[in-house]
Amino acid sequence: MPFGHDMAYSLASAVELVNTSPATGGEDGLADLSDLQAFVESQQVSGVDVLTTRDLGQVRMVREAFHRVFTAPDQPTAVRLLNALLSETRITPRLTEHDGHPLHVHYFAPGSTLAEHLAADYGVALAHLLVEGEWERLRTCSAPDCDRVFVDESRNRSRVYCDSRTCGNRMHVAAYRARRRA
Ligand SMILES: [Zn+2]
Ligand SMILES: [Zn+2]
Repeated sequence: MPFGHDMAYSLASAVELVNTSPATGGEDGLADLSDLQAFVESQQVSGVDVLTTRDLGQVRMVREAFHRVFTAPDQPTAVRLLNALLSETRITPRLTEHDGHPLHVHYFAPGSTLAEHLAADYGVALAHLLVEGEWERLRTCSAPDCDRVFVDESRNRSRVYCDSRTCGNRMHVAAYRARRRA
């Protein structure tokens, strides 16, 4: 994909965020503040203050908004939903170097809440993906009991399963058994 490291990182984090949603088939991965803290640490979200239950509620709402973008039925709908999300987010581009990462751009405004921070950085990454004409790369897993989302980075846009350890594997096994039965 023609995306820089930074954007790929934001897209991967957006996927992680959306996949904590119970709407993707599992338990709520942001059930409480310790889950939110763990998410912030695993995704190395910078400059985060002490988190509150208010942050938790706001981040869950942003998460659902991103989920709707990933599952939009067509590109115009994805554009409309993403614009709505971005319009609620203060954005201030700023070059930065921190924690050993090379020079990159942060989009969240100074003083942003965590939800605004995620909406800005992930929202801009998704906006660039749409601008590149890559909307179709936003996918939902095709495994029967899984609705996790992913960004298809394969060259021919052929990926249909999420990258959870189980989905790809078990579907290969099912296909293998089906072939043997045939
Ligand atoms: Zn950074
Ligand atoms: Zn899956």
